[in-house]
Amino acid sequence: MSIQENLNQIKSELPSQVTLVAVSKTKPVSAIMEAYDAGQRIFGENKIQEMVEKYEQMPKDIEWHMIGHVQRNKVKYMAPFVSLIHGVDNFKLLKEINKEAKKNNRIINCLLQIKIAEEESKFGMASNEASEIIQSKPFSELKNINVVGLMGMATFTENEQQIQKEFKLLKNTFDNLKSLETFNFKPTIISMGMSGDYKLAIDCGSTMIRVGSSIFGERNYN
Ligand SMILES: *Cc1c(COP(=O)(O)O)cnc(C)c1O
Repeated sequence: MSIQENLNQIKSELPSQVTLVAVSKTKPVSAIMEAYDAGQRIFGENKIQEMVEKYEQMPKDIEWHMIGHVQRNKVKYMAPFVSLIHGVDNFKLLKEINKEAKKNNRIINCLLQIKIAEEESKFGMASNEASEIIQSKPFSELKNINVVGLMGMATFTENEQQIQKEFKLLKNTFDNLKSLETFNFKPTIISMGMSGDYKLAIDCGSTMIRVGSSIFGERNYN
């Protein structure tokens, strides 16, 4: 199937409260333009440099989401245009994003990445760390960020029960943190679910899925 057909197929099955982020990492501008021409406007990349290059070449009504691990020293390159940063997993990074957002006269939307997977390799903070950050004085001084929700990645496994347990943990964490709402913590988004598990993620309360290979085909890293 073509990119357009894949997109239409996925979108036709999505509940209206779920936003689709088309994960275009490693894919050329021509492939992304196919999705764009089919109406898709939200794209996710996991490398800042690659996202900047694509941003420069592509229509300016695209919303670019940074879904990968973010190094502090690279925040400045995306600060002028990034629309949502999914993988924020420490306070120093929030502070850096705030600083660069301010320089650009923007308020940058962020998600806190919660570690829900049992795997050691996945990034993210514990839910109590997130709660402490949100209630801290230094956080209340960050006027140029808005934390609009949480993001999580399940363990890479065939075991659906395991994945479901991890997604439910993220949903629970979200529900518990919601009451802490402040001017810069306005949680509405639960970013969870990828090509292999987005249906399960939606059943568990996801409001934003990040789908790459089911739209663009397998990635080639050579
Ligand atoms: C690559 C990636 C995805 C998309 O993965 P697919 O399995 O291709 O859908 C989603 N989220 C993150 C954080 C990714 O790095």
